[in-house]
Amino acid sequence: MCSDMDQRSLVLIVDDDRLMRRIAAAALEPGRFRVVEAGDGREALGLAAMRPPDVVLLDALMPTMDGYECCRRLRQMPGLEQIPILMVTGVEDDESVDRAFEVGATDHITKPVKPRSLRNRVNTLIRALEVERKIRRAKREWEATFDAVGDLILLTDDLGQVVRCNRSAIERFGKGYPELIGQPLQQLLWGDQPVDLPPTPNEPVDTEFPLLTGWFRHSVFDLPSDLDGVRRVHVLRDITQQKQAEEGLRTSQVRYRRLFEEAPVMYLQLRDEFEDPIVEQVNQAFLTTLGYRKEEVLGRPLASFYDAESQQALVDGWKKSRESTVTVERKLVRSDGELIDVVLKTQPERDLNGDVVSVRAMFTDITELNQLQSKIVASQKLADLGTLAAGVAHEMNSPLQVITGMSQSLLKALDKGTLTPEKLHTNLETINRNAWRCAEIARALRTYAHSSGGTLEPLDLNVVIRDALLLTEHQLRSWSNIEIETDLFDLLPPTLCDRNQIAQVLINLLTNARDAMPDGGRITIRTHLNEDGGVSLVVADTGVGIPQTALAKIFNPFFTTKAVGKGTGLGLSIIKGIVQAHGGRIWLESTEGVGTTFFMAFPPYIADSTIPVPAEDPVGRFEEGRQTLA
Ligand code: ADP
Repeated sequence: MCSDMDQRSLVLIVDDDRLMRRIAAAALEPGRFRVVEAGDGREALGLAAMRPPDVVLLDALMPTMDGYECCRRLRQMPGLEQIPILMVTGVEDDESVDRAFEVGATDHITKPVKPRSLRNRVNTLIRALEVERKIRRAKREWEATFDAVGDLILLTDDLGQVVRCNRSAIERFGKGYPELIGQPLQQLLWGDQPVDLPPTPNEPVDTEFPLLTGWFRHSVFDLPSDLDGVRRVHVLRDITQQKQAEEGLRTSQVRYRRLFEEAPVMYLQLRDEFEDPIVEQVNQAFLTTLGYRKEEVLGRPLASFYDAESQQALVDGWKKSRESTVTVERKLVRSDGELIDVVLKTQPERDLNGDVVSVRAMFTDITELNQLQSKIVASQKLADLGTLAAGVAHEMNSPLQVITGMSQSLLKALDKGTLTPEKLHTNLETINRNAWRCAEIARALRTYAHSSGGTLEPLDLNVVIRDALLLTEHQLRSWSNIEIETDLFDLLPPTLCDRNQIAQVLINLLTNARDAMPDGGRITIRTHLNEDGGVSLVVADTGVGIPQTALAKIFNPFFTTKAVGKGTGLGLSIIKGIVQAHGGRIWLESTEGVGTTFFMAFPPYIADSTIPVPAEDPVGRFEEGRQTLA
């Protein structure tokens, strides 16, 4: 309230007797009251409408509109329902007094009015009015607060019946306020169902009620006993969303767990312990495939499931796994000691801060795939040997014919006595040359046939290449218009390799090159020494080249552009496997219409090593496109 506003109470004195009005006005303390006067009921109503008074002194008997009628009308005016109206009656008879109260007077006083008692009476009424106003304001504030709260609040009495409730309760119960009041709260919440555990004061219970939708946190507070009738406050806080969020989280955790548990691939969840991966979680597929029980796996280091080679690789691999997604090939040891080949894909799991908390490891069993691949390699080799045999037979045939022919003619000349030392010399020379040729072919064939798959020996790559070419020479010569050029570096150091497999790589590459040159062309086979001491084999053709779109797929198994029955699409994928098994790398350069060059780099041979060091992760990306030799 502004300070300059008159804070004195406004008293409306209504009397047709001017003198009486003056006396009454003089009786009031000027410091507390301001006075307005009206000569009759009508004038009083007009003044009250303009400026609502705080107290009315009203003469009962006046002409035109008497005090009773005026009082009745004043009471009907907004804001005046509660103000004190003091009726001044002429006589102290029961009828006048009753009438005064009937029309809404607060009190009455009988004439003649003594100034002192009038002042006391008005003072008392005003005090009561002020107190009441304060209470009303407090009540309004309290009610507004009560209704503004989103929680459902219900006050109950000794019998547990609702005495009062807030707007949220009215809205949620969907009933009118009068319908709720007097209802037993138990009936409202649980209906006829028995209550298992009614909440006790100060111990909230999270619960669902049969008659309300949603979840609630139900709290109960006892009230002081002097609040007549009201004993307890029930607060129902809607926690449905919180419950749903919790439930959602739980369901997704369960779903994730089940996915992990029941996935057909082997999963481990690994945590880091002093730089070692330790198994934190394991799924059923892992246990079944490897034949372990769960308790044998949990808490154990990952290394204990690896063969020696994989264990060595793990040292560096684990560091990488905690930084990014890694894919590698490993060997796992089953509980019966048998090894299985797996592709391992790891993925770090981070918390909200981005810190790695664990690493998820997924293992795919590729044992069968590997067996299949070696079977394919073997069958391809057999097929090649078949064609080789035909070629070799032909190859051997001509020198043998020369040898037999020459020997027969020598014998004849000897019989006839026409053999001259010169003829003997030249013929023997020819026989000798052709016999060596046969021996050479036989040796190459023997080394090719004898070396069993998978045997790595330090060999001169040039010799391996020459042998392979020797055995296929016949076949190659039948390729019309194709010229084969070799440029082999003479001083190559040995390369740790499998003669059979390298020959197969070469034959496959030559066959592809031939197919790329239907109208003829040139194939160049080159070897050279790399900077790191390793050896490179390069096979280049002047064929149609490979379109950019096919480059990425070229090493994929079963990728072929050849007609059905002509190509299997396995050649390059097998070549890639072989080169990698030798610790080498393969890549290519190709220009459409110009030709294709395949490069293979093998690691340097170190005298006492038997296993070539892989140049890169064996299952990782393959190098494609155009790159220069490392
Ligand atoms: P296949 O020869 O059975 O089709 P490969 O894996 O050996 O299987 O080769 C896959 C594909 O790569 C071939 O179908 C061909 O399209 C392409 N390709 C391979 N080598 C060459 C080459 N030297 N020139 C052009 N294309 C080639």
